[in-house]
Amino acid sequence: TARLKGTRTSQFGPDSLTRVILVTSGKGGVGKSTLTANLGVALASTGLSVGIVDADVFGFSIPGLLGVGGARPTKVGELILPPVAHGVKAISIGMFVDPGTPVSWRGPMLHRTMQQFLSDVFFGDLDVLLIDLPPGTGDVAISLGQLLPQAEVLVVTTPQAAAAEVAERSALVARQTGQSVLGVVENMAGLVQPDGSVLQLFGEGGGAAVAERLGVPVLASIPLSIPLREGGDAGAPVVLTSPADPAAAALLALADRL
Ligand code: ADP
Repeated sequence: TARLKGTRTSQFGPDSLTRVILVTSGKGGVGKSTLTANLGVALASTGLSVGIVDADVFGFSIPGLLGVGGARPTKVGELILPPVAHGVKAISIGMFVDPGTPVSWRGPMLHRTMQQFLSDVFFGDLDVLLIDLPPGTGDVAISLGQLLPQAEVLVVTTPQAAAAEVAERSALVARQTGQSVLGVVENMAGLVQPDGSVLQLFGEGGGAAVAERLGVPVLASIPLSIPLREGGDAGAPVVLTSPADPAAAALLALADRL
């Protein structure tokens, strides 16, 4: 407990045995949070001890995706115990603010919040900590670059060229802080229709293009999926409820590859 409240030291510094993976994207709406939630649940289902920090402060969605929308962390003395959802310990600013109150903070406050999440929340010994970053290259990404220089980064993009270009920039910011880019996940790839044909709603090739420019692999291509979207809306991650769904299968295979 010496490393908890008030010490200002992250539990996840360079000496920590926890693998820290940041999930980033160039822009919002590409499925970054959905991917983070499903990946966390998939990893936990293999017996790993998994935490998720929702660092998407302005657009937090991890509590809802994990089905703990109204949950509050438990305080035991100075300790903040995160809610556990589907085997994952999760913390989000959404668990501290009143619903309906927008979070509009400047950089120093964001930095302090990230510091607190990493130092004052009692995760115990984690095998993996996933961090859902806000889209883009703003204050939070820079703060976490400073706080977690040893972290690895997953870049999420859609197959669309415009999403791919901005995704590359978020990876380059991570590299500037010393973080290593694990690879690219392409989300919202082709939708297999009832007649067997594939609808490429967002085009093709975005994931491969970003991966090539960054010199990293495409780790997964996750198709558009109604069960995945419904699972997110219901707080019941598709990797648990419909593991045979093609998107769920791609997410489970990604968890295996990490
Ligand atoms: P981000 O975190 O990048 O802003 P979200 O995870 O919130 O994106 O996803 C944006 C929306 O797209 C959500 O409504 C989510 O359910 C939906 N979505 C994400 N990935 C898929 C997919 N593969 N198929 C269908 N809907 C998806």
